[in-house]
Amino acid sequence: VRPVSIALVHYPVLDGEGQVVTTAVTNLDVHDLARSARTYGCAHYFIVHPIHAQRELVERIRSHWVDGPGGKRIPDRKAALDLVRIVPSLDDALVTLGGRDHVDVWVTTARDVRSAMPLSSARQRIVQEADGGGGRPVLIVFGTGWGLAREVIDAADAVLPPLRAAASTGYNHLSVRSACAIVLDRLLGAQ
Ligand code: SAM
Repeated sequence: VRPVSIALVHYPVLDGEGQVVTTAVTNLDVHDLARSARTYGCAHYFIVHPIHAQRELVERIRSHWVDGPGGKRIPDRKAALDLVRIVPSLDDALVTLGGRDHVDVWVTTARDVRSAMPLSSARQRIVQEADGGGGRPVLIVFGTGWGLAREVIDAADAVLPPLRAAASTGYNHLSVRSACAIVLDRLLGAQ
């Protein structure tokens, strides 16, 4: 199975008017995505933020649970937060994974965009063993705010289809916490 990592991007993302903005870190996102990433065997959980003070905030959350009193009290949470890697940009995450050309970058969105790669195909591509074993890493990118900026989507190797109800409910606004857990279960969950 190829190593799968996730990234939560705080820039460039969209606001309600479709402008490219930078969002603030949400404590819940740090914990919940870390727990999902650990549950499904992800290699890393990259938290992407261009603002130093925000990266320091996440560093403080991480160290409280990994090295500090939190980890002593709740070892399970320590194992999850241990996966967190705080980086200034998506490019930095890609460098950590061996460089852009070495990684398959898949983005997520609630909106329909250019031809999506079916989740079944994505699941298949994760389990295929690349020649030489190990296999190229996969990075699944999640956004915040009103979703990933166009430049991130256009630069990806594939777009995963929006998670959606079978019925046309006319409503599709999952939190990134819910969306990440569902995507990881569809791609890495037991069947
Ligand atoms: N309308 C926004 C969009 O199109 O992405 C929702 C943003 S949501 C608050 C933040 C992130 O959660 C998105 O960037 C995406 O990664 C993920 N997400 C939310 N709903 C999703 C869905 N139905 N399918 C796939 N990913 C979703």
